[in-house]
Amino acid sequence: SGLGASTGITAAPDELIGFDRRHVMHGFTNFDRDAAPGPIFASGRGVRLIDVDGNEWLDGCAGQANVSLGYGRDELADVAASTLKSLAFGTHFYHNRSHVWASQLADRLAHITPAGIDQFFYGVGGSDAVETAIKIARFSNITNGRPEKIHIIGRMNSYHGVSYGGASMTGDRAMWSNIGPLLSGFSHIAQPESGSVGSAQALEDEILRVGPENVAAFLAEPISTPNGLYCPPDDYWPQIRAICDRYDVLLIADEVLVGFGRAGALFAINRWNVSPDILTMSKAITAGYLPLSVVGVSSRVREALAASGEKFVHGVTYGGHPAACAVALATIDIMEREDVVGQALRGGDYFAQQLSRLADSQDILDKSSARATGMMVAINLKLDEYGDEFGVRVHEEFARRRVLVRSYRNNRTIGFLPALTIQTEDIDAIVERVGESISATRASLGV
Ligand code: PMP
Repeated sequence: SGLGASTGITAAPDELIGFDRRHVMHGFTNFDRDAAPGPIFASGRGVRLIDVDGNEWLDGCAGQANVSLGYGRDELADVAASTLKSLAFGTHFYHNRSHVWASQLADRLAHITPAGIDQFFYGVGGSDAVETAIKIARFSNITNGRPEKIHIIGRMNSYHGVSYGGASMTGDRAMWSNIGPLLSGFSHIAQPESGSVGSAQALEDEILRVGPENVAAFLAEPISTPNGLYCPPDDYWPQIRAICDRYDVLLIADEVLVGFGRAGALFAINRWNVSPDILTMSKAITAGYLPLSVVGVSSRVREALAASGEKFVHGVTYGGHPAACAVALATIDIMEREDVVGQALRGGDYFAQQLSRLADSQDILDKSSARATGMMVAINLKLDEYGDEFGVRVHEEFARRRVLVRSYRNNRTIGFLPALTIQTEDIDAIVERVGESISATRASLGV
């Protein structure tokens, strides 16, 4: 059944499917009880997952783009277990209490994060990291006699989490619907389009529109995922940095998804030699094995936060859990030992080449759009020619063939964010299933 005796699960597969159907509320769905059930996974090795019925799935998304070293790494599970045996829990609140793993990890992060980032605040996930970053930007101005300098600029086609701050930050109208008022003091500029000149100008225009005396920060992913995994033009980030400096606006790089090797550099912003003032990290920091987020800031930001002596009344109970910090340290060890960033660069290029080759026999794929930035791999579907229905149906076929694939831009882009360590035979297997899914969709739609 795929259920090991050691998992503590005694229910039979069909019972588990029933429990899920009756009692589990799935995020990012409309809670339709009649919707087709998804797979219920029981185990994983590498990029392969086994569901309760014993079927094997290929994970082209590394879970939520976090399982960067693949499933089934005993080393990470063992370090979590031994840490829990030493110290089940530790906090960072009040009186500067801490624990050895948080202390060690902060020193490690100070050495590997972009130049200037050397102060760290612990959380549990990307949403709270974004929340922390926003609060830090506002707090540092409010407590330094600039109470009006609190506006935060983000971008459309972005994602920054589900808390009210994160949802307000996110540039997606669907995230702003049906939840009552969002936070005020946010606005969104357009994404840079690859190849266009001066797209960073949109930030300066927005700062001038809002008034520099009102703008605290610009927050963005160095490479946007929802926008379709396009790498921005070379001059974009250096220009953004210069604009932020000109108007005393903090630059917040949201590296929750792109950090820790995903973009073919330890941090995506390193690709442009730009240092942010604030850096959000989560997901692959623990290779997905335990929840953790960390917000890094420069000493200059820390000093601004401390200047007034006011208390920063913020933090979450499970932030910087000992086991999560220990797993993060072990993840960084493995990344260095196995040259995981190099693997991501080589594997991503190979993946994009194979998609480009598939486009030779599948006209729906726009061959020229096959792209990879590290292990952020994508290709566009010609839905203007083939119709939107194709985009919906092809994802049903992916699920039927048990391959997990991401969809962006209303199904116009299919994306792959697999483990950075994915082997070529697994890339081939994913591309083959993608090809079969496209053929099946063509046959069923008669196109
Ligand atoms: N920021 C970015 C860039 C993300 O991709 C995500 C999650 N996909 C988040 C923030 C929110 O993280 P979480 O889901 O862990 O709350």
